[in-house]
Amino acid sequence: MRGKKCTSKNCTLISEKTMRARSFFISTLKEAPSDADIVSQQLMIRAGMIKKLAAGVYTYMPMGLRSLRKIENIIREEMNRAGAIELLLPMVQPAELWQESGRWEKYGPELLRFKDRHQRDFVIQPTSEEVITDFARQEIRSWRQLPVNLYQIQTKFRDERRPRFGVMRGREFTMKDGYSFDRDQEGALKSYDKMYEAYQRIFTRLGLTFRAVAADTGSIGGDRSHEFQVIADTGEDLIAYCPESDFAANIELAPAPCVIPTRGQATEMMQKVPTPGKEKCEAVVELLGRELTSSMKSVVLAADRVNEKGEAIEPQIVMIMLRADHDLNEVKAGKLPELKEGFRFATDEEIVKAFGCKPGYLGPVGIKSDIVVYADLTAANMSDFICGANEEGFHITGVNWGRDLPMPKTADLRNVVEGDMSPDGKGAIKLQRGIEVGHVFYLGTKYSQALNATYLDENGKPQVLEMGCYGIGVSRLLGAAIEQGHDEQGIIWPESIAPFTTVICPMNYSKSEMVREAADKIYEDLKAAGVDVILDDREMRPGVMFAEWELIGVPHRIVVGERGLKNGEVEYAYRRTIKEKQMIKTEDIVQFILNR
Ligand code: ATP
Ligand code: MG
Repeated sequence: MRGKKCTSKNCTLISEKTMRARSFFISTLKEAPSDADIVSQQLMIRAGMIKKLAAGVYTYMPMGLRSLRKIENIIREEMNRAGAIELLLPMVQPAELWQESGRWEKYGPELLRFKDRHQRDFVIQPTSEEVITDFARQEIRSWRQLPVNLYQIQTKFRDERRPRFGVMRGREFTMKDGYSFDRDQEGALKSYDKMYEAYQRIFTRLGLTFRAVAADTGSIGGDRSHEFQVIADTGEDLIAYCPESDFAANIELAPAPCVIPTRGQATEMMQKVPTPGKEKCEAVVELLGRELTSSMKSVVLAADRVNEKGEAIEPQIVMIMLRADHDLNEVKAGKLPELKEGFRFATDEEIVKAFGCKPGYLGPVGIKSDIVVYADLTAANMSDFICGANEEGFHITGVNWGRDLPMPKTADLRNVVEGDMSPDGKGAIKLQRGIEVGHVFYLGTKYSQALNATYLDENGKPQVLEMGCYGIGVSRLLGAAIEQGHDEQGIIWPESIAPFTTVICPMNYSKSEMVREAADKIYEDLKAAGVDVILDDREMRPGVMFAEWELIGVPHRIVVGERGLKNGEVEYAYRRTIKEKQMIKTEDIVQFILNR
């Protein structure tokens, strides 16, 4: 029976002759390396799923690769079900395409660039919009070929500023990236919705708790971009959602309301007060015996500029005023007309030059006219507020817009906080952390326009293709699944992506013929029934062997020992409730596992 092909739906891997632990490279560690920051990273290394080669670059050990392949296969099945077609684009891409799209300049140091022996520029793909658009402009000729949705599961390289958390933010990682091509916007949005649904199915099948949230569309604009976030406290993203409605958005995008309905009348006179050494709003209000919400903080940003000759000139300084308990949202700031070409925080030198004072005592009163002041919607409605006096060691109280300084420009510039009203008005916002594992994005004609990718319509007229792009962090999903599934003993995999679903642990495999025969038979029968099973033939002490499989996180464990066999029984334990053991009749064990 050995080597029979697996027929079960769960067994998506190529069937092996035998899957025995001795010949399978299992390499666990008692301790996690000290540079492993989060539990998924620690457990993946300890369980021998991955091995670090360089910062953000990992080897997939056989055990880890099995789970990675299972994730890939679920993604592949659902992409195919949704009508997408798989191809494989080269990892190495010529610079010319990136120059054509303009991203050769824009992408920055995350893009790994190199030269070949002829001194020609190339990149290792961090993503493939350019190459797929080039493919489309050659291959798609007529409206009759549309819509088209192409995807690949491929290694990506991004020279991340801070690779960390193991496979969660690697530099080399596996991504599923897909791209749709349609005749018009209506078609493109249909393709988008199809992918959105496919993603729902994928992450459900992967056994994850996740949320689809509205996301920023950056320079492309429009309202069609969703991130799929796996809920986890260790996530790098913050999600704002409303428990009373279906509102959910990345905090980058979530609108923050004005929490002061109308600006109060001025009741105080402006007064300069000494606040030596009090650079933080909290310290200032404590000294003055005021509420934090009566104080304003200023953030100074700079947008670099060039003159007609292309020479760098003084940057545009933009001062952003926020109520002291609120935080700047940089994505929102990046949409201001003065900052949309790019901005940075002003340096201390630039601040001293613009305000005549060091940070900590800055404010919008009496400043140079070439400094642009924006107030967040809430800050704009504050009255009798406190801000810096632009003089070291001093603040001003009783400041009022209009009376003491010009009315500011206003915009939503802060992060939402818990308790803010949801934009749909249905309840208060709550926040939770998430790991972005997927992203669907309506691109419009951004790339097709730049690369002149067109098709001929019914009238033989060339029309620009409408595009969407759809990414899934395949390797990041391994980490995300572990963040959601683990205990003191180790990983608890969702059944669908565990490296094996069942392990047989025989006691005294080589010495006891009775055990060997029974274990081999159960193994063969499970295999024949399509169960993804491994037999541990390593002759380890039971405690050590069990601890290893608990660490690796295989869902079902069958222990075969002489004592049980004499009663015609084997012992079964489920990883989630590993302490509870159950004796099962030997002849029933295969059916029992299948039922589970
Ligand atoms: P992030 O905000 O996390 O950097 P991104 O917006 O750069 O993500 P996309 O370009 O949309 O990500 O890439 C698609 C998917 O690839 C992401 O949803 C994420 O799951 C995954 N991904 C992105 N960067 C990495 C990385 N450095 N390591 C592992 N997976 C990644
Ligand atoms: Mg990124």
